[in-house]
Amino acid sequence: MKPWACLTLLALGACGGGGPSSPGPVPTPAPVALLVVSAETGQPVSGVAVSSSGGAPVTTNGAGNATLSLNTGSDLRLEAPGFFVRNTLYRGDPRLTLWPERADAGAAFVQELVFNQLIADGAVTRPITGVTFVPMGGLREDAAIRQVHERAAATLNAVVGDVIGYGVALTAPPGSLAIEVKVDANDPFLGQNTGLQAVTRIVQQRNRIMSGSITFRRISDAGLLQLVSHEMGHAFGLGHPSQAGLMSPSTIGNFTDFTAAEKLEMRVMLQRLPGTRPPDDDRAAAVSSAGSRTMVVGCGSEAAP
Ligand SMILES: [Zn+2]
Repeated sequence: MKPWACLTLLALGACGGGGPSSPGPVPTPAPVALLVVSAETGQPVSGVAVSSSGGAPVTTNGAGNATLSLNTGSDLRLEAPGFFVRNTLYRGDPRLTLWPERADAGAAFVQELVFNQLIADGAVTRPITGVTFVPMGGLREDAAIRQVHERAAATLNAVVGDVIGYGVALTAPPGSLAIEVKVDANDPFLGQNTGLQAVTRIVQQRNRIMSGSITFRRISDAGLLQLVSHEMGHAFGLGHPSQAGLMSPSTIGNFTDFTAAEKLEMRVMLQRLPGTRPPDDDRAAAVSSAGSRTMVVGCGSEAAP
């Protein structure tokens, strides 16, 4: 018997399959008491129609609870007035957030800011670690420029710093991704777009921001707080909405802080998996196979939308 047992083991090894990775029998769905809250306030949302696998919806009660029979991996659809329809999977966490749809933060604005094609490739794209802006060349000894960048980083930290910390340092500390900051009037992109003051390049992998650079045309551009803050917004994955604000290409220079609507979307982005698709669908986010790519966005007085 022993030789046969040995052969069986070898065959399993050669195939590289079987054993623990084999799909087991599908477990029987069990009742799960879901809690549905607003991604903006964290408060329970009542009256949400929650359904799974095309079944009859269950409506959340005044405490935001609805009980459905689910397996890990069951699909969920949540619909409520004032929020974008959410499609997700039950991943073991009974607490589910809904993405607010407001008068100042409607679908078109979210599309342009979050699901943009400039930095984000049409899906939520953001850092999952801290971000360090690293001055390069002559900027490394420029205290005034550094101060402007530190103020801009503080603007971001006021919104997302409890989850994604932004900083300025000559070297990115371990665990933080690096965005190089430089001045280069000979940058090829700036050479082709003579009206622009800055170009930000973001390397993303599976909708996670991995590295990048911000290149200013002139040293004076690198000292403009509004422009620097705007470029750092791109380093969070934000695009160019037409609605007035720090990230709108037509109003750069008028804002030193993100608008309430921009802040809302940034906070919601932190509550979504990279790869989440509009209006609010993360069913395929965890298995997104989008490879590494560099996104380029030019900004300044003649920035394209
Ligand atoms: Zn821009």
